[in-house]
Parts: sequence; C-alpha cells; structure tokens
Amino acid sequence: MDVPSDLVKRDRSAVWHPYAPPAASPLFGVASAEGVRLRLEDGRELVDGMSSWWSAIHGYRHPHIEAAVRAQLDRMPHVMFGGLTHEPAVSLCERLLAIAPDGLERVFLSDSGSVAVEIAIKLALQTWHARGHPERRRLLALRGGYHGDTFGAMSVCDPVTGMHGLFEGVLAKHLFAPRPECRFDAPCTDDDIAGFERLLKDHRDELAAVILEPIVQGAGGMWFYAPEYLRRVRALCDAHDVLLIADEIATGFGRTGRMFACEHADVAPDILCVGKALTGGTMSFAATLASEGVCAAIGSGEPGVFMHGPTFMGNPLACAAAGASLDLLATEPWQERVAAIATGLEAGLAPCRELRGVADVRVLGAIGVVELREPVDMAVVQPAFVDAGVWIRPFGTLVYTMPPFVIGPADLERVTGAIATVLAAHADA
Ligand SMILES: *Cc1c(COP(=O)(O)O)cnc(C)c1O
Repeated sequence: MDVPSDLVKRDRSAVWHPYAPPAASPLFGVASAEGVRLRLEDGRELVDGMSSWWSAIHGYRHPHIEAAVRAQLDRMPHVMFGGLTHEPAVSLCERLLAIAPDGLERVFLSDSGSVAVEIAIKLALQTWHARGHPERRRLLALRGGYHGDTFGAMSVCDPVTGMHGLFEGVLAKHLFAPRPECRFDAPCTDDDIAGFERLLKDHRDELAAVILEPIVQGAGGMWFYAPEYLRRVRALCDAHDVLLIADEIATGFGRTGRMFACEHADVAPDILCVGKALTGGTMSFAATLASEGVCAAIGSGEPGVFMHGPTFMGNPLACAAAGASLDLLATEPWQERVAAIATGLEAGLAPCRELRGVADVRVLGAIGVVELREPVDMAVVQPAFVDAGVWIRPFGTLVYTMPPFVIGPADLERVTGAIATVLAAHADA
C-alpha cells in the first residue's frame, strides 16, 4: 500500500470528493496531464481510460483548444450575458444548431450538465404553462437513468441508484418506466416498450415531457439499448403530444460513433442537453437546445420570458474552448478513431468474458463495459489499476472505459490489458 503524500494528507483534512465520505480513500495526487496521459505527483504516468468522465475526447492540453482559450483570455475572460452578447457565444450557438438533430432552433448556455437538465425540465414545464396546461408538469423517465445531482435532475434519476429515499418529501414525484431490456443489436419487441407505453397513455394529461438518455444509459448502469426503442418512444410522444427531452450530456460529440446518439435511431428530440465533452474537457460548460415549438410557446404565453439566467452564462473562455473542440470534430477523423477504439475494446475485453464473476461485457463506440456480479473492492482495485499504469475508475459492479478518441492502439491495449489482468486477480482473490 502506498504511503499517502503530503498533498493527499492535506486533502483528507480539508476537501470533499465526489460520492465520497468526508476523507476520500484511495486518492492520488495528479500533477499534470497531456494527450492520453495523467502524470501523478510521484512521477508515475497513467494512460487515461476515463476521459475525465466522458469529457476529454481530444486528450489533455490539445494545442488548438489551448490557443483558443489563451486568445480569448487576452480579449475578455468573462462578461455578463444579460443584455450583452459576444462572438464566441453567437458562433458556438450557431454551430451547435448546425450539427444538432433537425428541428432544434435555439440554445440556452449554462455551466454544468445538471443545470442543463434543470433548464430542460423548466423549458418543458413553462411550455405547457404557456399553452394553458399548467397541470402538465410531471416527467416520465427510465429506470437505470442518470441525469445529474441537483434536485430537479435527481428527481428523474433512477429512484434506487439515485437514492430517492434519502431525499423523500423534497424530490418531485415523477414516473418511471422499466429499463429498456432490448440490447443495442437486438430488436425491440412490443413487450420491451409495453411498460413505457402504458405509463405514457395513462398519464398523458399530467405529463410535460419524457426525459431519457438516448441509446446509452451512463452513470445509472452503463447500459446500451436498441435504437428501435428510441424510435418508438419518439412516435409515442408524438401520438400523445408529450415533449421528448434527450439528455446527451454523456453521449454527445461522437462517443457512440455518431455525433449524437439520437442519430442511431434517426430521431430528433424537442429539447436536447449537452455538456461533458462540449469543451473537450477543458472546463465546465453545458447547453440546452430547444425546438421552435418550445421557443414559440414560451415566447408567446405567460410570462413571455424563460425564467433562468446563470451568472456565468455564456462564459467566453468556455465558448472559445467549445468552439475549438467543434473545430477538431469538424477536421479530425473522429469517426474512424471511434470505430478503431470499438474494435480494440472488443478484442481487448473479450478475455474478461471467461472470468469468474463477470456477468456481461459490452462495447458501443468508444465505450467498453465489464459488468460484474458483485461490486468491486475499490480499496484493492483502484491502486491495482494505478500499479498497472492506467486510470480506470469503476463504480459498484461496473468496470468501464471511455478513452480519449486520440488514444493509440498500444495505449488502448494497456487499458484493456489492465482491466483483464486486474479483474482476473480480483476474481481469484
Ligand atoms: C454527467 C451527466 C449529467 C450531469 O452533468 P454534470 O456536469 O455532472 O452536472 C447529466 N446527465 C448525464 C447523462 C450525465 O452523464
């Protein structure tokens, strides 16, 4: 076991980490990052298998993104967005609309994914309020979903993994359809959609919107489901006049092999949330895109304005980073890279299928998942991954990787090899 460094000791007496007890453990000090590598304070280098939670798609310190941020820093790092506008924000919103699924007409910028989800929920509720249906304010979500950690977002996360019991009485009571059981490559039967369909039909008069993660459910279970399910959801929403919110905060910007996961099903949502990879992992930033119907309702009904406005809305540094990331997605062969990563993940994770304790191995685009029957022991597994020279951060029964798109074959093998080796040792322990 490593001796904790000074940094880690100071951290443990002053700092709180995500989903951690007051003093987090195990914990590693990181000094810098470049390309697909994290350099720890003790000099060890780790190949990053997490892209800092889906975000660093171009790797760390990409010179094009850094140059854009530096140039913007020389002009203005920030200015309020109420009554003022600027080139980085306008051009970013124009470009997001150009690449987003059809029918999305306007962009609301915010600071993080959870806030983008709050905004999406508010847009949906305000739409129905403006249309004279204030009673339509419930949401229909999917079990196994994850939409963020603020209260509105939490209220549509899976009730079990989202620990709704802990916040009983505070969270809004929404509706939850069963997790879609049809796998990505499988057909979607009437049975697969029946639970969803029944809830939608029974509650349509009180529903503002359906909210889901298209194709890939992320932090709620790393589960991939059939595009046909999503197509049927879109058709049911249309038939019953319910809005569809697509949360592409994890999937947006190429991760699944398409720019947006909705494209697998060839559907467009009424409201779209993006975040995570928006700035290529440079800084926190998010956006909520709305359809013409949503914009028109909110603009014409009471109170005629959308009731939201973060202090740091449209931050110019974040807009510059996001614009530079979109430049890279427009000029670099990310589709081929993601396809190559998918092939490498399939081959590299295949040996895990034979391991005792492994329930499932699945790959979609640049996402590889090994699902175990029992939760991993993080105190053992986390340092073992570091010793193997990779950064992998499992949660519960899920050991997964979504590396930067720029990872090369040798580094990808190091990631998959480490997963196979560490899990083999874990299975034998
Ligand atoms: C990460 C995530 C969020 C929340 O984003 P934050 O930036 O962490 O607030 C919401 N939805 C999905 C699908 C996510 O993966």
